[in-house]
Amino acid sequence: MLKKKVPLLLLIAASQLLIFGHVFSQSPKKLKTIIVDAGHGGTDAGAVGQYENSLRSKEKDITLAISQKLVAQLQKDLPGVKTIPTRTTDIYQDPREKAKIANEAGGQLFICIHADSGPLKQGRRQIGTHTVTRYKVSFKGRGKRKKRISTPYQSVEPLYEYFKYPLAINGTSVWIFAAHKTSDKLKAITNGGESFDIETDGLDSTYNNFNFQSGVGATVANIYMKRYQEKSDMLAVLVNDDIETTGRKSLGVNQRQKGIWVLQATNMPAILVETGFINNPEDEVYLNSEAGQQELAEAISKAVVNYKYQIENPNTVSVQDPNPVITASNAPSTITTPAFETRVTKEEKLIQVTNNRIKVDLYDDGDVDNDIVSVFFNKTSLVDKKALSDKAYTFMLDLTPGKNNELLMFAENLGNIPPNTALMVITDGSKRYEVRLAADLKNNASVRFELRK
Ligand SMILES: [Zn+2]
Repeated sequence: MLKKKVPLLLLIAASQLLIFGHVFSQSPKKLKTIIVDAGHGGTDAGAVGQYENSLRSKEKDITLAISQKLVAQLQKDLPGVKTIPTRTTDIYQDPREKAKIANEAGGQLFICIHADSGPLKQGRRQIGTHTVTRYKVSFKGRGKRKKRISTPYQSVEPLYEYFKYPLAINGTSVWIFAAHKTSDKLKAITNGGESFDIETDGLDSTYNNFNFQSGVGATVANIYMKRYQEKSDMLAVLVNDDIETTGRKSLGVNQRQKGIWVLQATNMPAILVETGFINNPEDEVYLNSEAGQQELAEAISKAVVNYKYQIENPNTVSVQDPNPVITASNAPSTITTPAFETRVTKEEKLIQVTNNRIKVDLYDDGDVDNDIVSVFFNKTSLVDKKALSDKAYTFMLDLTPGKNNELLMFAENLGNIPPNTALMVITDGSKRYEVRLAADLKNNASVRFELRK
């Protein structure tokens, strides 16, 4: 079967190569350099916490803290990739400088970290009274002798205190530059007379009204869209999904032209993450917390790992992020890819367990080297293309007595250090088993669970 199919596929591929030679001749490029930009800095504080009882935090500090954690996380998750920050201290850089750093470093991905704000409503409240001296004006006499007389009197008046209400809105949003796949939008941007400006980026007026109608502007917009829009969009969706997975409110992927001049000025796919609202109390605390900053860094890094895999393996189906806990009964019932049947299941292990429901924790074994696996339970897809790390990926399995109960691991790649190795920790009631599995592009690995009462 397979032997007959391969030449046919090759034939189709070859014919497409002739027609779309310019597209298909580009082999997928490896992602080697990522730029992480901490928004604002130095004299440009960005948004500042201004509502009553706020932490008075400054966006520039939050973006720096998250960016530093993101750089560290990316270096950990993708050790083979160079991750470069635009700044590591509290310095001012205008967007041109940031774009220059990214372009000169040969960046292939640009991630901007920002925090949102919004207009705050002012309120007042009475905090007491105070006595004020006022004057009653009267006149005495007539004509030239008319005199103005001011009589002082004491007036007790309310004393007010003014304050700013916090923002009600909170959550993380991801932005890409004028993201639209349709040519209508491209037309609108290049011909529609829309001007691009940077509201918060502190550039001079020349850049503040970047005109995409003009020859140069239209060319820049065109080139950027054609080259990078799809990839920027792909990464933005992955980041948004991974942030949502943490339980944090995510406001989706958005597009805009205003305020993100730097995204199109970088010669690479680019996204801007508005990590949260600095003037929302819940968000301000979250953005200032080590845990919140780390959670965001990990979610973004996870998305980048996924993105890297997808652009380097363009023929695979898009990666679905499964729920953190899956049981065999609620797992997707369709077999997404029977690809595992084309490989030999060489490594087969047998474990005897006593509980119907067991817990499986999946880790990368040894060095975390970007191993990506899919897991099938009784030939049903259970985990779809998951990058293994030193953090457990946990799912539950419901076992059937007398059945095979086969858990199969399929290597989606070899990782940086072949083969693709996983450590499986199985919890069977009070008992724990550790199983090491190795798979490669020719062999699957499997564990069978025998249910013994
Ligand atoms: Zn900002």
